[in-house]
Amino acid sequence: MTEYALVTGGSRGIGRAVCIRLARQGFNVIINYVSNDEAAALTLSQVEEAGGKGELLKFDVSDCQACASSLGAWQESHPDAFISVLVNNAGVRKDNLLLWMEQEDWYRVISTDLNSFYNVTRPLLQPMVLHKKGRIINIASLSGLKGLPGQTNYSAAKGGLIAATKALAQEVAPRKVTVNAIAPGFIDTDMVEGLDEDSLKSQIPARRFGKPEEVASLAAFLSTDEAAYITGQVISVNGGLY
Ligand code: NAP
Repeated sequence: MTEYALVTGGSRGIGRAVCIRLARQGFNVIINYVSNDEAAALTLSQVEEAGGKGELLKFDVSDCQACASSLGAWQESHPDAFISVLVNNAGVRKDNLLLWMEQEDWYRVISTDLNSFYNVTRPLLQPMVLHKKGRIINIASLSGLKGLPGQTNYSAAKGGLIAATKALAQEVAPRKVTVNAIAPGFIDTDMVEGLDEDSLKSQIPARRFGKPEEVASLAAFLSTDEAAYITGQVISVNGGLY
């Protein structure tokens, strides 16, 4: 049985750093993404440079059917494979004050950042439970802990993801599957483009944005055997910002 780690949204940002880190840790990495073929190919080459093995698996995490059929087809073509680590990382933000927010932007963020948890986790959970082994790591956000103005959609999705983490952790702990969330603050990726960096930095006790690798190192630790007794937790990586 060959063990794999699936990282959703692995083509860029935090997901890419997680793919590289898990590859260094010896996992075969499945790099999911939705549209950016070039970025995904770059992640794959960086995984290989790190001495690991990787595969690209393009599907939309907000589309339940697409998740089921892509993951089902992948498993059929890899009968001896077991995805023992799942990092639910893919996400988008569509910020606006609720007063002006279009329905489409509410639904897009809830689908991509919260429904994706169901769409991807559900098909992978049964094998984890049967093997009595698994690590589910959900990339939430500071926004889901405290709520941020201009992000009611994103705060709702990430807050829901945090609650789902705590609930599922209790369901599957007897089967040796752990479920944790990481709540990053501001991390230097494409997602924070357009934000007023100078003004935000002055509010962060560490006076800087975090690096994707600083989130990836925690995800990597949570995926190890040493982290077996940590479950149902939300761990912040935010430079002291609350
Ligand atoms: P990013 O640089 O914008 O990358 C987003 C990734 O998600 C890309 O790989 C993208 O794929 C993928 N993706 C988006 N929609 C998808 C979909 N429907 N199906 C599959 N993949 C999809 O973002 P990031 O900053 O690394 O964020 C990663 C996670 O951390 C997100 O959940 C985000 O909410 C969370 N987070 C980020 C920050 C931050 O400050 N950066 C803070 C807190 C939490 P393509 O390349 O194909 O578009």
